[in-house]
Amino acid sequence: MKNYAKTTGEPEKLIAAFQPANDVRLRGNADDIVRFPEEKQLLDDELWELFVNQYRLRSDSETNGWRGEFWGKMMRGGCMTYAVTKNVKLYNALLKSAKSMLSAQDELGRFSTYEQDKEFRGWDMWCRKYAMLGLEYFYDICKNQALKRKIVNALRKHADYIVKRVGNGKNKIPVTETSQNWGGMNSCSILEPFVKLYNLTGTPKYLNFAKYIVKTGFCKDFNVWKAALSDRPPYTYPQTKAYEMMSCFEGLLEYYIVTKEEQYLNAVVRFCELVAETDITIIGCAGCTDELFDNSAQKQTEQSDMHMQETCVTVMWMKLNYRLLSLTGESRYADRIERSALNALAGAMNTENQTMEKSEAHVWDGKLIFDRHEPYPFDSYSPLTVNRRGRRAGGYMRLQNGRSYGCCACIGSAGTAIAGLFAILCGQDGVYVNLYNTGAFTATVGGREVKLEISANLYRSDNVKIKIKGTGTFALGLRKPAWSDRFDVSVDGEKAVFEEKRGYAVLEREWSENIVLVKVNAKVKLHEQNGKIALTKGPYVLARDSAFFGDIAAPVNIAANAKNEVAAEAVQNISFPSEIALRVPTDSGHITVCDYASAGKRYDDDVCDITVWMPKK
Ligand SMILES: [Zn+2]
Repeated sequence: MKNYAKTTGEPEKLIAAFQPANDVRLRGNADDIVRFPEEKQLLDDELWELFVNQYRLRSDSETNGWRGEFWGKMMRGGCMTYAVTKNVKLYNALLKSAKSMLSAQDELGRFSTYEQDKEFRGWDMWCRKYAMLGLEYFYDICKNQALKRKIVNALRKHADYIVKRVGNGKNKIPVTETSQNWGGMNSCSILEPFVKLYNLTGTPKYLNFAKYIVKTGFCKDFNVWKAALSDRPPYTYPQTKAYEMMSCFEGLLEYYIVTKEEQYLNAVVRFCELVAETDITIIGCAGCTDELFDNSAQKQTEQSDMHMQETCVTVMWMKLNYRLLSLTGESRYADRIERSALNALAGAMNTENQTMEKSEAHVWDGKLIFDRHEPYPFDSYSPLTVNRRGRRAGGYMRLQNGRSYGCCACIGSAGTAIAGLFAILCGQDGVYVNLYNTGAFTATVGGREVKLEISANLYRSDNVKIKIKGTGTFALGLRKPAWSDRFDVSVDGEKAVFEEKRGYAVLEREWSENIVLVKVNAKVKLHEQNGKIALTKGPYVLARDSAFFGDIAAPVNIAANAKNEVAAEAVQNISFPSEIALRVPTDSGHITVCDYASAGKRYDDDVCDITVWMPKK
């Protein structure tokens, strides 16, 4: 294992491989993804205030609910989105809500949606985590120094209350006992904001509390991170809730960055590899059994009526990989982000403005009550075998004013923001391209500004054009995507020689208004597993949609060449909007497929089944 800690005098500091670019101006598909929640969600004043109000009403007390997660989750996504779009309206909405949240702290210092006599059970710690994270993410973009000081003071009071009552010792409750759910993994994920608070304040007791949580192993009677270190796949652990477990590892990575103790980085890296090997599916999510790790890498081909592939899992997977990408500079993490963003997450966006009238939501009030709910910007579950989208609102909670919200609806914007944040990153030696999508970017390399213009549309063309604006000597890193068996680079028409570093083709040279051309292979490819087949085109997964002609459950026989390439012809999609539609020949005629992200998006309709995996004839 490489040591990512680098010394820059005293005190020793850990330098991340990548920093965000200064200015990201995406166009086309990726821009649509990043901006989507801005108009659908993040400027909704009523929603922001409802989320804060849960803290004033302590509305989770009676039912051990999780309404308290909504504010911090949406604030985190809002701040990440602002980091890309720099939208002033968005900043003002976030500012207003952050101020409102500060006024919802109780006299004891708690940001809690539970009454004091019912605290530290259910999802209380989880919600307190999100209150902290929301404030910490806003702190990072806040332009008002006085407000920043107020935020830190509020966070201290909030954290001090917890540290006094949770932990080892007399009259304290162990963190794994602060929830009856998932072995307390949900509560243990408060690790991340505690490490962040230590970074903000330098106060040792917050790091000590983080150390205490790490020692618990994140779960009652089971050490999750030691299991990952010993190469045990997450789907075999006593608790397998994917989102909560990944949240703990995100905290562990922050803890490593502060402590620089290698075993923690190794645990996070191993955990991610194990998840990638055993649970990540073709669309870049995990869990085919509700929201649980369940060896989905294998199970994904099974016909199933379970709710599967939770959007919260997609986004947490993207977040964890984005942190590892930034820290290590290794391109495999960007490969995973690309897959999840363009397939699972883009597929969960309610781009067709569906009312979600067929989506199930239920609350427990002594008995199970089924509710109709408002349309959300993000759907919660993504089918892989014959089934429909928009089936159920995950993590559903009733609010006031006749409104409601769900966990996945709330987390989406953190994922869509990453589609912009990871596109171009700045290394020590130059600028690194992760996403081949049209856009203009400004990055700072060695104190100098570098401007890039990218023209790419992998739906239509295998060619990516990159215009380097300005002059100077620096490295241009180009991600070699795992889905392409071809990667040719030329500069001003001449074949370029590149060095391979951490999965990037790196061209280190003197630049002067050059044109770089990258040729990849984004042909349609056939994948076979467990007697089922699926199709992809470059980073995009393709799907059958019942709105097209033919029975999507019927077995098919598709011919492919030795490189698994399939002859497919682009056709116009007259049934619904899609990025691409393709006619693929079969032994008995043809089938039509489109990009998974556009398939099945009209889930108010009666007929809207889709499938990725097709039975092989
Ligand atoms: Zn969710």
